[in-house]
Amino acid sequence: MTRIYSGGCACGAIRYETSRAPIFQNHCQCLDCQKRSGTGHGSYLTFAQRADMRIEGEANTWRVAGDSGNDKIHAF
Ligand SMILES: [Zn+2]
Repeated sequence: MTRIYSGGCACGAIRYETSRAPIFQNHCQCLDCQKRSGTGHGSYLTFAQRADMRIEGEANTWRVAGDSGNDKIHAF
């Protein structure tokens, strides 16, 4: 049985769907994720192949410096 993973943003402008299972799932409780989500954590799924992901809509992005000094790209 194939499970479909689908979802999107709260306003509905971006939708995604894939039949591939995520390779990683986590709840991050760092201060950055708390500020962006407005809650105690950010929840994430990571998929191995973006090519297998059907995405509708386009996100806007911004960059911030991570604790490592590397750029972190955020999208909404
Ligand atoms: Zn975080």
